[in-house]
Formats: sequence, structure tokens, C-alpha cells
Amino acid sequence: MVKSTAKPKYKRSDNVIPDFEYLFDDEKPKPEQVERKRKAGVGFRFYKRLLKDNTGSFILSLFTFILKNLPVWVMPIITANIIDLAGMAKTDAVIHEIVVNSIVLAAVLLQNIPTHVIYSRITDKMLRRTGAGLRSAVVKKLQHLSITYHKEIETGKIQSKFLKDIESVDALSTNLMKILIPNIIVAIVSIGISVYNSGIVTLFFLVIIPANILITQLFRKKMRKKNHLYRVENESVSAKLSNMLEMLTVTKAHGLEDEEIAHFEQNVRYLMARGLDVDKTNSYFGSASWVIANILSGACLIFCAVLALNGMISTGDIVLYQSLFGSINAAVQTIINVLPTFSTGFEAVSSISEIMMSKDVEDSRGKRKLDHIEGNVRFENVYYKYPNGAQYVVENFNLNVKKGECIAVVGASGSGKSTIMNLIIGFLQPTEGHLYIDENDITEISLSDYRHSISVVPQNSILFAGTIRENITYGMEKIDEKKIEEVAEMANLNEFVKDLPNGLDTFIGEHGGKLSGGQKQRITIARALIRDPKILILDEATSALDNISEYHVQKAISGLIKGRTTFIVAHRLSTIRDADRIVVMDAGKCVEMGTYEQLMAKKGKFYELKNLNDMSYKQAEEGLNEEVV
Ligand code: ADP
Ligand code: MG
Repeated sequence: MVKSTAKPKYKRSDNVIPDFEYLFDDEKPKPEQVERKRKAGVGFRFYKRLLKDNTGSFILSLFTFILKNLPVWVMPIITANIIDLAGMAKTDAVIHEIVVNSIVLAAVLLQNIPTHVIYSRITDKMLRRTGAGLRSAVVKKLQHLSITYHKEIETGKIQSKFLKDIESVDALSTNLMKILIPNIIVAIVSIGISVYNSGIVTLFFLVIIPANILITQLFRKKMRKKNHLYRVENESVSAKLSNMLEMLTVTKAHGLEDEEIAHFEQNVRYLMARGLDVDKTNSYFGSASWVIANILSGACLIFCAVLALNGMISTGDIVLYQSLFGSINAAVQTIINVLPTFSTGFEAVSSISEIMMSKDVEDSRGKRKLDHIEGNVRFENVYYKYPNGAQYVVENFNLNVKKGECIAVVGASGSGKSTIMNLIIGFLQPTEGHLYIDENDITEISLSDYRHSISVVPQNSILFAGTIRENITYGMEKIDEKKIEEVAEMANLNEFVKDLPNGLDTFIGEHGGKLSGGQKQRITIARALIRDPKILILDEATSALDNISEYHVQKAISGLIKGRTTFIVAHRLSTIRDADRIVVMDAGKCVEMGTYEQLMAKKGKFYELKNLNDMSYKQAEEGLNEEVV
């Protein structure tokens, strides 16, 4: 919702977000595979498919990397040549050789500027596009997943998946393209050059790999343990901090600030100690690997000197092998260090693919589009059971609603009222039976089109950080200013908007934090109104409000329901007196149906509910009065 003021400039070709949804298509899920193997499989498959579609860029990236990196390999060769030439007698041929070597060196160095830029451009584009494609694929999937799916996994989990996992996958791709593959190339080419020059020295180089693995293995277990302890402590400090902030009023009210500070400082002290532990192990590891590398390098130097003394290699070659040793050793060390980070990335790919592979989507593709909706709704022997539930929460429900009718649904908490509303919205589909919208089975129509004709006012108004106007017109394109004012009037918004500094353009803060519950609810009602829906659903729209707010919202609602098919679930039963029909629910079944007068005269379930309802409101009001007194 936050609008950035300056948009980055880009060329059209850089602006294309690849479609990655297919990367997660799982044609043959194999449940019998071991969990761990399956997880790694997901990551490998993801990168394999990605590579298949980017083969051109990938090869170009490798090729330009080799070009840009040429100086690293050519410099030592030329240095060796020049040292050898410098030791010779000064002849024209030798001088000519030196000139040729210098020209080659200059050319190899200078070409690095364009090739480096091209390499970065190709690789960065590939990586950025991967990141963008992944983010957009996840967002698309989240938008298409059913409400039931979203209800089951908490929003927090999605946010952490979206933010943390995508970053991990980004890091994995970057490490792969910019660290692992380049270093493998460096190691291979350097080993290749030494094999070409001398087999014996190459054999000596091969010691580097086991030596590096050995030293890292020696420290890895210890480092992992220390890092883990540090991370745990760090998380606990963060948790304590947020807990502390939550408790702040209580702490201050009881004068316990000093105790809290002391308590927190103790945790910070633990964290510091753990941190120092990590630093200590790191410094041991750092110096041990540095010393070992230099001992090996020294040994290489002496080994080469012995070979030179025996006339097996030239003096210049000693320098060549020293350089090659340095680059192979650095490459091997980098590879060994970066490999463990890959497991986090693969873990993240598999975690994202959990969302991506969910089949719980609302698919409107290929379904009938209703271009006009009258607003007739008919339930025919509808049963509903939640996928994880044991029993039906709606049973044998029948109801025929003609367009423009106002239906109130009442019943004790848990009797299935919201479930019926969610069936009408299409968030849930009948387990058995049929639900018809203008005689079209709801399972056969495009829900996203159908929903353009319905509006929902839920119990808790959902607003975003923006102006009141933006919240009302959410998702709509051109809106007539007169229409907005009309809607604001009908929703009884003006009563408070007129006192705001910027009127409808007042910024309402995160989740409408600067407004009262009743004010927020009236904005939600204006949002429902401006859509001019054919079907309107009010699920306990006033339940979270106090009496005065409820009065204002109720006034807004009466303007809203005229001329539309309306379903109202109301908390306070006196507010539904004017409904055309009242449906009384009990444990998922419709037990009574009729007008207010009919049901009151019948003295059945509704009558009973109404009396209880009146009593509890009366008590609540008396209680309130006592408190005030
Ligand atoms: P009401 O709106 O009348 O209070 P609901 O329609 O929300 O009742 O719930 C009807 C029943 O369905 C309740 O017993 C409730 O526990 C159950 N229920 C609601 N949501 C879920 C869910 N996501 N999974 C399983 N059971 C649910
Ligand atoms: Mg409910």
C-alpha cells in the first residue's frame, strides 16, 4: 500500500517478471520418498528447471567469467616468463619476447573492464529476475489459495515464509552463481595450467584439498555448536524484549522497572558471553587455517626450489606455482566454506514449495462467467463439514431467497451462521447438496467474477494504512466524486469525517489504528456500498461495537440493505425486526423460519433466544451503569 515516490527507471526488457509458477508443478509426487531426500529433490528440481530455461544466459555468464578472470591465470604465466627472460643474456630476441609478453599482459588486463561489466550484467539480471519471479509466483499463489487454506496456516507463518525463505533462496542463487561456480572454475583452470606445466607439482597441489577439509572438519562441529547456542540466546533475548514491551504498563504500574532491567541485563550478559565464545572459536579457526595454508605454501616453495635446483623447472616457474597454489587454496577454502550454507537455501526452496504445491486453490479458469447477477440464492439440501472436522456443521439446509429479500440468520455461537455466509461467498463449497446463484450451481461459476457482485461486512473491519478515501474505493478504478460523497453520507461517515483535518483524505494509520471500532466499521460499510452489490453479507457487523457506535453503524446499515439481497447475522436480536425472514439455527440445522412477529408469536426457539438476548443486554447495561456510578 505504501507508494514509493521515485520509481526506478528501467529498460523494457529488464522489466519482465518471469512466470515461475510452473517451476513448482509436481507431476509425480512420490510420498514414499524419504522426507530429507524429497526436500533436497525439490531444491534440485527447482534449479534444474531454472537452468534449463536460462541455459543461454548461464553459458554466457560462465564464458564472460572466464574472460574477465583471465588476468588471474595469465599474470603468473607472464611473470614467470619475464623473470626467466630477465635472467638471460640481453639479445634482441629476448627484448622482443619481453615486449610481446607486456602487450599480452596489457591486453588481458584491459579486456577485464568490458568483460567484467558484461559478466555482472548477465549474472545480476539472471539473479534479479529469479528473485522477482519467485516473489511474484508466491504472491500469485497466495492470492489464488482458498480462504480455508489461509485460515489453517497462520498469517505469521506466511510472512516469515515469504520474507525469510525468499531471501534465503536469493542468497543461495547468488552464492551459487557468484561464489561456488566461479571458484570451481578458478580451481579447475588453475589445476589445468599446473598439470600442463608439471605433473609433480600438481600432485603436490592435491594435498591442498584434504588439508583444507581436515582443518574445517576439525573446527566445524565446535563452530556449529557455538553458533547454535548464540542464535538460541539471541532469539530468546528478542522474545524477552517483545515480552517486556507488552508488559510495560503492568511493570510501570507496579514499580518493577529496576527488576525488569536487571533481569534483562542478565540475558544480555549471557548473549555477550555466547558471542565471545563464537569469536574465540572463529579466531582459532582463522589463525589455524591461515598458518596451515602458509606452511603448505612454504612447503610448495621449497619443493619447487628443489625441482629448480635439479633443473626440472625454471626460476620463473617457482613464482608461477606459488601464484597457482595461492589461487587454488583460496578457491578450495571458499568452496568448503560456502557449501554448508546451501542446505539453508535448499530448505527454503522446499518450504516455499509447500505453499506453491498446495492444491487448495480457487480455480476460476474455464468456469462460466456470470456477467449479470440478479441476487437469487437457493440452498438445496446443503451439508457442510470442515475438512478436518468430525461432524457436519451445516446439515440439510434449505432456503430459497428471492432477489432483494433481507434474511436474518440467528442462533447460538457455533451454530453454523458464519459457515452459511462463507458458503454464499464461495469461500466454502457444500460437502453435499447444491447452492444456486440465480439458478447457477456455485461450483460451476467463476467465483472471482461472481464476487464482484457481492459485498461483505465482517465483524472486524479490515482496513489498510492509507486514506479513508483509498480504503473506501479499494480495488476500484474510476470513481465519481459525487458517488463517494453519496456513499459517505449513506454510511453515516460524515458524522465524524467532517471534524477530521483532511476529511476523506485523512490518513488512518496501520489497520485504521487512529479510528474507533464504529468509525472503522462505517468505512467498511461505505466500501461495501460503493460497489453497489447485488448480494450483501453482514456477519455480526456490529458485534464488536459499543452502544453508541452500534447506533451509528445500524443507521448506516439500514441505508445499505435497500434493494439488495441481504444476509444479516446479528448479535442483538432487536436489530433484525425488519428482516423479511429470520432463519433460526441450532447446531447446524435450521429449526425455525419466519418473520419476527410470526416467530415471537410461536414462542419457540427464537422467542427463547430473544428473551435471553434482551436479558443479557439489560444486565450488561445495568452493569455498565453501576460501574459509571
Ligand atoms: P457461528 O458463526 O454460528 O458462531 P460457525 O459457522 O463459525 O458458527 O461455526 C460452526 C461450527 O464449525 C462450530 O462448531 C465451529 O467450531 C466449527 N468451525 C468453524 N470454523 C472451523 C474450521 N476452520 N475448522 C473446523 N471447524 C470449524
Ligand atoms: Mg460467526
